Amino acid sequence: MKIIAGNWKMNGSRDSLVHMVTALQDIDSKNTVILCVPYTMLGVDGGRVAIGAQDASAHDHGAYTGEVSANMIAATGAKYVIVGHSERRQYHGETNDIVRAKAAAVIAAGLTPIICVGETMDEKQAGKTMAIIESGVRESVPNDANNNVIVAYEPRWAIGAGLTPTDSEIADAHKLIADTLTSMGLGGTPVLYGASVKGTNAAQIMSIPNVDGVLVGGASLKPDDFIPIITSVK
Ligand code: PEP
Repeated sequence: MKIIAGNWKMNGSRDSLVHMVTALQDIDSKNTVILCVPYTMLGVDGGRVAIGAQDASAHDHGAYTGEVSANMIAATGAKYVIVGHSERRQYHGETNDIVRAKAAAVIAAGLTPIICVGETMDEKQAGKTMAIIESGVRESVPNDANNNVIVAYEPRWAIGAGLTPTDSEIADAHKLIADTLTSMGLGGTPVLYGASVKGTNAAQIMSIPNVDGVLVGGASLKPDDFIPIITSVK
């Protein structure tokens, strides 16, 4: 069984979410399906689909205009929160320390963070991919996560670009993440691959060792694109 998580980013509407969850109700798959949507769509009944958010405040409540706490997200019935997505790191200056604080708040609210790590093109070209991945995991995943966490490896240069690393690059990255999590006492934590996953490459990517599922951006927006990814692995 794999985990198939969609990230709608700043797209969609409550109506399009209802349309999607209705389309997913009767598909023939035992995979766990998660849709992480904008805050304004939280509270829509996902049925067999678990609903998640895309960010949460590190703070519980108070004078933090524009922020939404993990407890507020939990109150909508959501179960997951993406934390440290590359677009949050790029456009909002989120560091590993900020990501870890947010992930800890998500866990404290009883939700599961999907913590994203991955290298930029500059870091890849400088030969720093493995170092960035390892420090990303060590510094972004709370040590006391107690196995209530998912990690997503998302090479930042490949997101939304139609590019993917080679299978052996994905295998090396996922082995490093699995080994790092084990050394932190978090062995068995699911590790998803994300960046330009689609129906045509999902099965192959999910056959790579230590790939426990996928995090899907653009191809999670329409049932015709998302369903083939979910059903590509039994
Ligand atoms: C993402 O935003 O997490 C992502 C993986 O995007 P895409 O699938 O569009 O590359």
